[in-house]
Amino acid sequence: MKLTTQEQPRIYLSPPHMSGKEKAYIEEAFATNWIAPLGPNLDAFEQELTVKVGAAGAAAVSSGTAAIHLALQLAGVSAGHTVFCSSFTFVASANPIRYLGAEPVFIDSEPDSWNMSPVALERALEDAAHRGKLPRAVLVVHLYGGLTRMSEVMALCGKYNIPVIEDAAESLGSTYHGRQSGTIGEFGIYSFNGNKIITTSGGGMLVSNDTSALERAKFLSTQARDVAIHYQHSRIGYNYRMSNVLAGIGRGQLQALDERVAARRRIFERYREALSCHDGIAYMPELPGTFSNRWLTAITVDEAVAGVTAADLVQALASENIEARPLWKPLHMQPLFQDASFYSHMPDMSVCEELFRTGLCLPSGSAMTDNEQNRVIATIHYAIDHAKRRSILDRHKPAL
Ligand SMILES: *Cc1c(COP(=O)(O)O)cnc(C)c1O
Repeated sequence: MKLTTQEQPRIYLSPPHMSGKEKAYIEEAFATNWIAPLGPNLDAFEQELTVKVGAAGAAAVSSGTAAIHLALQLAGVSAGHTVFCSSFTFVASANPIRYLGAEPVFIDSEPDSWNMSPVALERALEDAAHRGKLPRAVLVVHLYGGLTRMSEVMALCGKYNIPVIEDAAESLGSTYHGRQSGTIGEFGIYSFNGNKIITTSGGGMLVSNDTSALERAKFLSTQARDVAIHYQHSRIGYNYRMSNVLAGIGRGQLQALDERVAARRRIFERYREALSCHDGIAYMPELPGTFSNRWLTAITVDEAVAGVTAADLVQALASENIEARPLWKPLHMQPLFQDASFYSHMPDMSVCEELFRTGLCLPSGSAMTDNEQNRVIATIHYAIDHAKRRSILDRHKPAL
């Protein structure tokens, strides 16, 4: 079943979108020979992002994953500790927990934000307190740009004196009661991977109000060199600093962030309006008081009402050369983490398992044209209408 017979150009889920201002910064790096993981672009990118999000400081690193690895160490996580982590996320949120020899405990989503359930978190904390093994940190993920009830998460963690790390890899530009995501907990991390809302091709940033912790992050990310002319080292370090060339891309990208957020939100609203004629499709909610960058338009499909599954739509879109993806497979369902504990939102109901079963992301790149988005919308209309017609035909088939 195909809508078009001719091969159409591919529509990607979330491709990079240059502002045009990046090249000048890169050329400056070349002209001054600052082709190093240090230099004026790096300092300026950190400074500009710090101002943009309203943190006290920032450390630019080679990836969002590296930023999480550093944040966990600064929070005091080491071998044998546990870290609570959202289950509904990409594997990069939890891998660094294992790098440190610590164990993740996964927390379900709640239905109202699709992000970390304060109800499940509270149960997990009570359990841990009871067993005398509180987590060393709580890693809360703002998936697809949405934020959970952060005041409840912060209050619960405050009660037990546990630092909160925000994985804001997908949520740069999102806010919670006016505060930028990533600046609410003790540490926040952003990613500038190629598919994120702004990109340096690859890169990440750690932000915090604890400037001495950020100094420590820079020390750790440059091989942990002690203050000495000769090379002296007292602990293990990493080669995690962002390059001055890539920071130049980041500076040009950051200037376009507000436009990118506006474009992604516009794309989300356009999908919602165009698909409103179909029952059984639901959209990732935005909690009151929160503002999502709508990094990806995430929807769920109720097969009983819509007549198609999320997987049917992914397949229909693929046949039109359009990239769509199921929602992230929860980490507690991954073979990698089969031994990890999981706290569901309700004792007998996992929200993120249901989201994974019924959800998908639609192409949401900020450079997507109306015509491209129309192709996505038309394909979904066609797939749903086709399924409806087939089920009517099936019902009228003469019984044998
Ligand atoms: C992209 C992403 C990361 C990792 O960022 P990298 O820069 O690719 O290392 C971490 N967490 C989430 C939720 C992400 O989407």
